Amino acid sequence: MIEVEEFRAEVRQWLADNLVGEYAALKGLGGPGREHEAFTERLAWNQKLAAAGLTCLGWPEEHGGRGLAVAHRVAFYEEYAIANAPAKVNHFGEELLGPTLIAWGTPEQQKRFLPKILDVTELWCQGYSEPGAGSDLANVSTTAELDGDQWVINGQKVWTSLAHWAQWCFVVARTEKGSKRHAGLSYLLVPLDQPGVEVRPIVQLTGDSEFNEVFFDDARTDASMVVGAPGDGWRVAMGTLTFERGVSTLGQQIEYARELSAVAELAKSNGAADDPLIRERLTRSWVGLRTMRSYALATMDVEQPGQDNVSKLLWANWHRELGEIAMEVRGRDGLTLTNGDFDEWQRLFLFSRADTIYGGSNEIQRNIIAERVLGLPREVKG
Ligand SMILES: Cc1cc2nc3c(=O)[nH]c(=O)nc-3n(C[C@H](O)[C@H](O)[C@H](O)COP(=O)(O)OP(=O)(O)OC[C@H]3O[C@@H](n4cnc5c(N)ncnc54)[C@H](O)[C@@H]3O)c2cc1C
Repeated sequence: MIEVEEFRAEVRQWLADNLVGEYAALKGLGGPGREHEAFTERLAWNQKLAAAGLTCLGWPEEHGGRGLAVAHRVAFYEEYAIANAPAKVNHFGEELLGPTLIAWGTPEQQKRFLPKILDVTELWCQGYSEPGAGSDLANVSTTAELDGDQWVINGQKVWTSLAHWAQWCFVVARTEKGSKRHAGLSYLLVPLDQPGVEVRPIVQLTGDSEFNEVFFDDARTDASMVVGAPGDGWRVAMGTLTFERGVSTLGQQIEYARELSAVAELAKSNGAADDPLIRERLTRSWVGLRTMRSYALATMDVEQPGQDNVSKLLWANWHRELGEIAMEVRGRDGLTLTNGDFDEWQRLFLFSRADTIYGGSNEIQRNIIAERVLGLPREVKG
């Protein structure tokens, strides 16, 4: 396997050579809260990365990946963040569904779907949450019934990020009538472009939409589009979530550091830095960032109980707090729009409120630590 530093140099050089011309204008665009920015152009950029062999780095080589270790992937994300390259568009395919199919998919499913995730010609979204099933995902009530050689799906998903750009959705649905909780669920691959599917964007306070409601009304998918055995969907769905853990964390921290220094610069330029409370919060924020970095480095190559939960709590709370500091630094100016639109600090403040909710809320992370790490009695369900 290529040495980490050699790979890092390769990535750095490739970005220097390619993030130029029309692509240079994409620097810093996209990502949570800013997914509406230059989507088509970022898709083209993502396809260019793919053609250069710079996507799906951790996938095994027999499935078209590069079989690279965690340290290499961290190096990629760090260089990517340092170059301020635009956010990629296929997180759900590359990081979640691809690894799930590699682990549990049939050879036919792998052959059908992996190449199109690799070259970014099919995009995916995640159909887990429902109006009555978020933190309590086992409460899923979307159903799927076999009708000949097809599943017929009925129900509603919500908060489905990027469904308005995706061609496919991986859906957790109840396939055994009368089943409860974790039993009787299946993990289905469902095409979105069909009469039985309606994707309704949810408009955020900013006027942008990056997540959706997805309605299934006798929607169909082939019987072969179940990953794992029918009824075993909970195990596959939980497996997908384990892939969500972040090798991208150290790269994300470079972006966080950039945001923090921009807030500090703003405080210096508008005089907010003279306020001792703001100085204190900015300094604490810097310390928090160092703590996160040390934690990420210390746990990069080891599996410790509760590690993903600690990591999620650290970054989500840190980033939400940064949004609050940014608004304090902006002072009264932060309360009004500029040219009728939200500026980057207002967007940071608004979207970072979601950081402590998606990917498992703060309370759920703490519940997991309490029960699985500290061995406290299981929570009594009402
Ligand atoms: C930006 C964003 C993007 C998202 N993208 C997707 C996506 O692409 N696909 C998808 O399927 N979902 C997605 N989600 C949904 C996300 O997974 C859920 O919002 C999350 O799981 C919480 O579920 P909920 O919103 O139903 O809140 P609820 O589960 O109803 O929780 C409401 C509140 O009660 C607290 N709570 C709930 N249960 C407990 C408990 N047992 N103990 C203590 N407190 C509790 C929660 O912490 C929260 O504060 C996204 C959410 C956001 C905000």
